[in-house]
Amino acid sequence: MGCKLEANYVVGRTRKIADLLEKDGFDALFIATGAGLPRFMNIEGENLVGVYSANEYLTRSNLMRAYDKERAATPIFDSEKVAVLGGGNVAMDAARTAVRLGAKEVHLIYRRTEVEMPARVEEVGHAKEEGVIFHMLENPKRILSDEKGWVSGIECLRYELGEPDDSGRRRPIAIEGSEFEIDLDTVIVAIGNDSNPLIRQTTPGLETNKWGNIIADEAGKTSIDRIYAGGDIVLGAATVILAMGEGRTAAASINQMLAK
Ligand SMILES: Cc1cc2nc3c(=O)[nH]c(=O)nc-3n(C[C@H](O)[C@H](O)[C@H](O)COP(=O)(O)OP(=O)(O)OC[C@H]3O[C@@H](n4cnc5c(N)ncnc54)[C@H](O)[C@@H]3O)c2cc1C
Repeated sequence: MGCKLEANYVVGRTRKIADLLEKDGFDALFIATGAGLPRFMNIEGENLVGVYSANEYLTRSNLMRAYDKERAATPIFDSEKVAVLGGGNVAMDAARTAVRLGAKEVHLIYRRTEVEMPARVEEVGHAKEEGVIFHMLENPKRILSDEKGWVSGIECLRYELGEPDDSGRRRPIAIEGSEFEIDLDTVIVAIGNDSNPLIRQTTPGLETNKWGNIIADEAGKTSIDRIYAGGDIVLGAATVILAMGEGRTAAASINQMLAK
């Protein structure tokens, strides 16, 4: 359809949003930069070798073809005992990928119970079918290291559920003195993604909410004229179908604006 694709181009670094409009002659922009900044637990040991964000693990194993062990340009080591931290769909993806890459044990650690788990019931069922070991009401306190700086295990605390929190789900409360350890060589952190702050930081006047997502109206228009946004960068981590819908809505609004 005549779209020109520019690869290796980081908006906010290669070129700022204002430059695209004011210097490069674009009439309108649609920002769809997603929510690709992995959250971490901020616990001791998260920088050890063998700790991945789910995004890195899934990107390397699938998109970068680490599963093709003989030919992969960026192979990943053969994990034997893996812990996946989190209870969402991405955690299920990561756990099942670890099983398929040949791990002998994959432990999924979640601090509430299966009732509060955000993952789809089907995904939880599929992970169980593939042999993922579920640890409910447990949460890591620190990741343990061997003498070379590689993951050797994880120290967890047991939890119980208290009163509902702001999300309406019962609040997990750590049980003091309940520490225990699991031997591991790999930890995959799958506790969600935030939006990358680059465009927000380099575009004065672009309004964002407290989570750093761009604020856009129903037509996809942001606080700056001629700049539209949609998908995860507006909604927070959501779904492909919602992102596609927002793209279409914004495209229609941009066409209307340009036709005036
Ligand atoms: C592991 C995982 C599994 C998922 N599974 C599902 C699923 O099964 N079904 C489903 O509906 N959804 C799923 N999702 C969610 C879905 O991927 C997102 O909701 C959807 O991709 C959002 O689309 P988007 O276009 O807003 O952003 P993205 O698809 O995230 O695209 C953003 C793009 O912008 C690029 N970018 C970011 N910053 C810049 C910049 N400054 N300059 C230039 N480019 C930039 C990024 O590199 C990326 O290519 C999953 C998400 C993850 C992480």
